Amino acid sequence: MIDTTRIQAITLDLDDTLWPVAPVIVHAENTLRDWLQQHLPRTAQLWQTPDLPREVRRAVVQRHPERRHDLSFLRREMIRDVMVQAGDAPGHADAAFEVFFAARQQVTLFEDSLGTLRALAGRYPLLALSNGNANVRQIGLGDCFVASIAASQVGCAKPDRRIFQAAADAAGLAPEQILHVGDDAQLDAQAAREAGMQAVWLNREGKPWPLETAPPPQIHTLATLVQWLLPR
Ligand SMILES: [Mg+2]
Repeated sequence: MIDTTRIQAITLDLDDTLWPVAPVIVHAENTLRDWLQQHLPRTAQLWQTPDLPREVRRAVVQRHPERRHDLSFLRREMIRDVMVQAGDAPGHADAAFEVFFAARQQVTLFEDSLGTLRALAGRYPLLALSNGNANVRQIGLGDCFVASIAASQVGCAKPDRRIFQAAADAAGLAPEQILHVGDDAQLDAQAAREAGMQAVWLNREGKPWPLETAPPPQIHTLATLVQWLLPR
């Protein structure tokens, strides 16, 4: 069990914790593809080349290793590279990226997300802690969170303990006073514990704990957090 007496704030992973991420990435990529087809058909066609996006991404990361955790930066540079290769003006990259980015915020929350966030936010400061480029304010969840910690800003990604420390710093607390909740056994649950936080593994599908370490407390639905943390 978790030691609720020590918890002063909660950090939450976003993708696959509050909403399923795969459908929203498909939606964002389709939206970008449609926009390119309409505005820059040569870029759109080149983008469809099998393996090309992956190769371009690799090239961008090689050029900018210090930005490898900044998924928005990588995406914008990828678009720019493909535009240049296709013979289009790379000045359109920002507009194309904005189309992708806006679509990427159109998530569909898991059923238990909003109620749990609202209930917890009434008692604890909540901080978003994500390796991705979802934006809780644009998604409409800004009221639930006091801060957002993103790998793109910190310059490192989970499981690096520095990103957990950055969240603790943002909360003005020690890691020991924070509970981290996330769906990834390694990047969330195990890494948070190694950074000195308590952790709950959100295991929606009832998978076995995949690591050699002792399993952390696990939940199958976020709503369980309300039972654990807000006893009547
Ligand atoms: Mg996740």
